[in-house]
Amino acid sequence: MARVYNFSAGPATLPEEVLKTAAAEMLDYHGCGMSVMEMSHRSAEFKGIIEEAESDLRDLLAIPDNYKVLFMQGGGTLQFSAIPMNLLKNGTADYIVSGSWSKKAAKEAKKYGTINVIGSSEDKNFSYVPDVDTLTYTPDADYVYICQNETIYGTTYHKLPDTGSVPLVSDVSSMFLSEPMDVSKYGVVYGGVQKNIGPAGMAIVIIRDDLIRDDIDPKTPVYMTYKTQADKGSLYNTPPCYTIYICGLVFKWLKAQGGLAGIGERNHKKAALLYDYLDQSKLFTPTARVEDRSIMNVPFITGDADLDAKFVAEARENGIANIKGHRSVGGMRASIYNAMTIEGVQALVDFMERFEKENA
Ligand SMILES: *Cc1c(COP(=O)(O)O)cnc(C)c1O
Repeated sequence: MARVYNFSAGPATLPEEVLKTAAAEMLDYHGCGMSVMEMSHRSAEFKGIIEEAESDLRDLLAIPDNYKVLFMQGGGTLQFSAIPMNLLKNGTADYIVSGSWSKKAAKEAKKYGTINVIGSSEDKNFSYVPDVDTLTYTPDADYVYICQNETIYGTTYHKLPDTGSVPLVSDVSSMFLSEPMDVSKYGVVYGGVQKNIGPAGMAIVIIRDDLIRDDIDPKTPVYMTYKTQADKGSLYNTPPCYTIYICGLVFKWLKAQGGLAGIGERNHKKAALLYDYLDQSKLFTPTARVEDRSIMNVPFITGDADLDAKFVAEARENGIANIKGHRSVGGMRASIYNAMTIEGVQALVDFMERFEKENA
């Protein structure tokens, strides 16, 4: 068996230790004689799994007591609708559009209220994050929305907008649990889990209690009502049981890596290794503005589409998979999530050096 270095943006690489535990527990979870896929979501075993997952996540992020954790199906995208449906009260919200994901979220939210796009970096193909200090915020907005790490363009907010008493809502799908974050600065933090935490099929929503309301439009689908999900502990209906189980294993793995401080230090080292190489390379050019660079998604180009294609093909022959960039940026993208090892990034850099010499 030869596992490749998988630089996919998502679904993405998972820690090998976690996959091995899942394999070992596949037929018989902790002596109950069945797999997690086969057990009732009302069973004592599953209750243990979901409660432990939530409590480990709370430990990792130091989630304050006045925040609920919801496990919801529908990935990141369903939250583009759930957020305005649950949070619009005055009927208006501010969105900062720094890439495709925040653009999609704003477009969806427009179905439900007055959405002000107060900042955008589309003029330069989303290669930077708008300066949050120079934007005009709407005083009676119900929330301000950002996508904190734009997966396709490889940009991150290194400074959060100061929204005063207006809740900040952040899509952290592609940076979830990559380093410590202060949850108390947000009204809602959410993300699809298939980028940095687990298998596809779920979003984790961390929401401050006072934003969970029961006076929302009664036509809101029951599944998408945060109040229902919170009251029922994400067990209103059958949750994505197996995905929750794998996420729980990943939380334990993260704790064993020294928590978010430990993994964050490693992630910064990995990113520095790659950016240091890219910055001195004469062949490859990273596309995101230096100040806004993501430590998770690193897009880069040669400027020659044929050479890019050659790189992607030869990389694959060298055990480096899913390095092709998104079509809206072109070139390559290395997603170096938590489960990507330093050896994996080193293997990529070594290969790039070789490729650069051969194609100079
Ligand atoms: C992938 C992604 C999404 C969409 O996630 P789905 O689970 O496919 O709906 C949303 N936001 C960001 C930042 C993403 O990277």
